[in-house]
Amino acid sequence: MTSVLIVGASLAGIRCATALRRADFDGEITLVGDETHCPYDRPPLSKQFLSGEWEADRLALVQPTEWDELDITFLPGRRAVGLNVATRTVTLDEGEELSAESIVIATGARPRQLPDADGVGGVHVVRTIDDSASLHADLSSGPKKVVVIGAGFIGAEVAATAHGAGHQVTLVEAAAVPMERGLGPVIGKICGDLHRREGVDLRLSTAVAGLHGDSAVDRVELVDGSMLDADVVVVGIGVVPNTEWLADSTLELDPTLGNGVVTNERCEAAPNIYAAGDVACFPNEAFGGERMRIEHWENAVEQGTYVGRRIAGVEADPFAPVPWFWSDQYSYKIQLAGRPLGTDEMQIIDGSVEDDRFATIFGRDGQLTGVFGLNRPRPVMQFRRKIAERCSWDEALEFAAAAAKKPRPSK
Ligand code: FAD
Ligand code: NAP
Repeated sequence: MTSVLIVGASLAGIRCATALRRADFDGEITLVGDETHCPYDRPPLSKQFLSGEWEADRLALVQPTEWDELDITFLPGRRAVGLNVATRTVTLDEGEELSAESIVIATGARPRQLPDADGVGGVHVVRTIDDSASLHADLSSGPKKVVVIGAGFIGAEVAATAHGAGHQVTLVEAAAVPMERGLGPVIGKICGDLHRREGVDLRLSTAVAGLHGDSAVDRVELVDGSMLDADVVVVGIGVVPNTEWLADSTLELDPTLGNGVVTNERCEAAPNIYAAGDVACFPNEAFGGERMRIEHWENAVEQGTYVGRRIAGVEADPFAPVPWFWSDQYSYKIQLAGRPLGTDEMQIIDGSVEDDRFATIFGRDGQLTGVFGLNRPRPVMQFRRKIAERCSWDEALEFAAAAAKKPRPSK
């Protein structure tokens, strides 16, 4: 293997390139990305960068001194528009064609927008550094009435950051429970209650009927007839994988997972064509082969790294991770590993909901499948390992009981 072309210059793409070099791949690596910035990390865009606590240089995924060592041909501001699977040739927006022995698809996802909201003054999405800087600018000129649409991860984090900066925040969610798809109904409700307690006006089971205003938004109308005054609107209603450029490629896309790129258990979509990160749908042997598309940081890191190592010939096992993510909201550190949905068992194993410090495990069909922690990172990591070891529900309860008896390590 002498050449690798990575499409998508963000977390999964950079981690793939880094893994190739760490595995002593000495061929040519070309990285194509449609953003004009050097690759940067997204989690701070709804947290420290949005609040103004961090400057842009803290977001860099590659330090200036690391570029030479990586030895990548980086083509920023260039969009891939087509892929020929048979010849492994990517066509760029200006018609240029690039071929390589291996192609890595790492084009991630972009925000869904409300109908007719694109380009309306005061209406924001948060995916790129420019999005976050623009929202920060709108929130920097005195207290604002902020309406956040969608109480998923973006909505919950932006609501917490905006509230922390002194703005009056209303969080609107179509479902009856916030973050239900990510956290499940019980934990989603507990996290929703945290927002109410902090002083955010949480409106559930209602959708947006329309945005009003002349040159910029000034009111949001809900389907229940209520009207919310709004200086700033943030839309966080999910994402769409960036796969339109693959429409004519013959690669399989999975409509049930947002049209992500279908791969085998080794992240291969076709011979020597791989997908990693938010864009990839893969069968996960750690969960009975369930096909997953995971929209979290750790997965982009692990899958990008896996693909780099696989291309370099040092990885033979299937990609079978136990998904994990964190979310920081107010002073709460939320973490979840595994799968919290479709479970038939749930047990608090540490702390209590009342104290805002607890960990819960989830199980299905006698197996441990997930663990959630609110301000309790240690049990999440312990039980994540247990999920990877295919621990049974009963063994997990025994392990929790034994851990509860052990004295805590002093800080
Ligand atoms: P992306 O980061 O989406 O990168 C894909 C890149 O490909 C982009 O630069 C895109 O512009 C480019 N691209 C797209 N199409 C083309 C094309 N045709 N040609 C060339 N380039 C193209 N996860 C957590 O676990 N915890 C968090 O706290 C957390 N916070 C987050 C906060 C925010 C505001 C956001 C947006 C995400 C957050 N995430 C978090 C999720 C995490 O950042 C993503 O899972 C991760 O960025 C996915 O990386 P990726 O490389 O797969 O895709
Ligand atoms: P998300 O987590 O999928 O949440 C979107 C939420 O909006 C869902 O609760 C969805 O409900 C709801 N919704 C959809 N349409 C709506 C409407 N018309 N009105 C009101 N609510 C509506 O997506 P996101 O919050 O937009 O985040 C975008 C991406 O960034 C995701 O990939 C996410 O994983 C990632 N991210 C991750 C983190 C983290 O891991 N900490 C932080 C920020 C962002 P339904 O589920 O019922 O459709």
